[in-house]
Amino acid sequence: MMASPRHSPTGVKAPHGARVIELTWLDGHVSPIPHEILRGYCPCAHCQGHGGNTKFVPGGNLELMSIEQVGNYAFSFTWADQHATGIYTFRYLRALCQCSECAPHSEFKVVSP
Ligand SMILES: [Zn+2]
Ligand SMILES: [Zn+2]
Repeated sequence: MMASPRHSPTGVKAPHGARVIELTWLDGHVSPIPHEILRGYCPCAHCQGHGGNTKFVPGGNLELMSIEQVGNYAFSFTWADQHATGIYTFRYLRALCQCSECAPHSEFKVVSP
């Protein structure tokens, strides 16, 4: 099954020293995702437990060390504290988009403890 253009990344940039990654998509959309959102919404079982809705988990290390593609459906991110268990599907990453168009409607926000 072919993924839709809005869930097909064409590139990912993580400028050194920047606290944001930038994904580009086949439909032309550009998705900035701040590290704080990316780490805070890490989808792994360790971060999310077994509750229902995806929750913001503050306090993780925000220094991104590397990005790996997982199969043809996801990326994983390795943080400076060696946390790397989150598998972020392309669909999930698109939902995390914090561009000026998406951010006002996003359910994914930084939540203060
Ligand atoms: Zn995690
Ligand atoms: Zn967007």
